[in-house]
Amino acid sequence: MAKSYDFVIIGAGIVGLSVARELNKRHPNSSIVILEKELDIGRHASGRNSGVMHSGVYYGSTTLKAKVCSLGAARMRDFADEHEISYKKVGKVIIAGSAEDLPTLDTLLTNAKNNGVKAERLDVQGVKEIEPYASAYEAGIYCPDTAVIDSKVIINKLREILEEQGVEFVYGAPIRTARPNQCLVETAQGKFSYEFLYNCAGAGADLIAKMFGHAGDYTLVPFKGIYYKLRVDRRHLVNGNIYPVPNVELPFLGVHLTKAINGEVYLGPTAIPALGRENYGIFKGIKLSESFTIGRQLISMYKANRENFRRLAHEEMKKYYKPFFLSAAQKLIRTLQSGDLESSNKIGIRPQLVNLKTQTLEMDYIVEKDERTLHVLNSISPAFTSSLAFCEYIVDQAEGTKPV
Ligand SMILES: Cc1cc2nc3c(=O)[nH]c(=O)nc-3n(C[C@H](O)[C@H](O)[C@H](O)COP(=O)(O)OP(=O)(O)OC[C@H]3O[C@@H](n4cnc5c(N)ncnc54)[C@H](O)[C@@H]3O)c2cc1C
Repeated sequence: MAKSYDFVIIGAGIVGLSVARELNKRHPNSSIVILEKELDIGRHASGRNSGVMHSGVYYGSTTLKAKVCSLGAARMRDFADEHEISYKKVGKVIIAGSAEDLPTLDTLLTNAKNNGVKAERLDVQGVKEIEPYASAYEAGIYCPDTAVIDSKVIINKLREILEEQGVEFVYGAPIRTARPNQCLVETAQGKFSYEFLYNCAGAGADLIAKMFGHAGDYTLVPFKGIYYKLRVDRRHLVNGNIYPVPNVELPFLGVHLTKAINGEVYLGPTAIPALGRENYGIFKGIKLSESFTIGRQLISMYKANRENFRRLAHEEMKKYYKPFFLSAAQKLIRTLQSGDLESSNKIGIRPQLVNLKTQTLEMDYIVEKDERTLHVLNSISPAFTSSLAFCEYIVDQAEGTKPV
């Protein structure tokens, strides 16, 4: 016998939890269940990220990311204030490493203007006033609204509120099969039927979407983000966040330095092509059939070399070795030494969608839907920052109401 709910949500990451909160706000008397494959929340991206609440300078004004990033950050600050969760508005400097980076700084400033985000151009002296140890080439940008927070505290608070409101959580419930015609999913914990289903399964969302006839144009390639930590007596080298100028053709921001809410300074994450959606160790999380499919896709992208994928792969793979990781970090603070970097067990995986037709990495969030289901695809950074506004967009899309 299937258990029946108004809303079934797959995945208890920040996106699934935010969607549950939004649904509960709009339909307080509805029945909602969240099906989570793990035995707890926060085992994947939402519990393994940098904890940066981005201000929204990276995204062109027509993108969905631009629509929900700064709004999401504002909503998250309000949520944190309401529930007395600490965050620090430490700001961020994005610094040019060479003359090649200068035009991109202008692009980011234009984005900031179009997106209504505070950002100011700095000369080298201006950068030094905010981050005295940063090594900028000629210029940088200051984003005063960037903040840091502990993402696990946020997701745990969301769960606590949802449980109080009667939202059910079922753990250890990976989706095994779906029967869209009967509005039913089968999990390791039994069958669940729905009036409407939201697929917010992060790195598993594409596989689930395919069970419903969606995501046909995409496949997923995971990119591993490893971090180092600064030695305690070197933490003073960073006040807030120091980021490089990114390649705006790619969805990664580059190795950066972030002073976390607890005062630790993290360097990372990398974007190393990985062979498994949960390949958190060298071999850990590798399943042969999955690795084969991902490996084949990586080879196609390597051959097609769109957006200089070969260079990205070479540069990122090298960062497994500390001297290469260090040289990426030294572009931000020239005086860093190998001994300043301590290894860290913080590792995350970015579940990056690849467009099969163009063989390029998808840059924006993607939402596909039908009458009874909606699938959140490519839930990559800054989906943590965006979540409390993104969920409004998601539910609007499902309900056919006005988008945010
Ligand atoms: C290294 C790294 C650093 C990042 N830094 C930042 C940052 O500083 N700021 C920012 O805004 N964003 C950042 N991000 C991005 C951000 O963390 C993610 O975009 C966001 O957490 C995605 O949330 P989610 O709920 O979609 O996915 P997840 O957190 O992965 O949640 C999905 C859930 O679905 C479950 N699931 C999967 N498959 C199934 C299945 N078959 N059945 C049932 N359940 C399933 C999973 O177990 C998981 O709990 C970072 C990401 C990484 C990897």
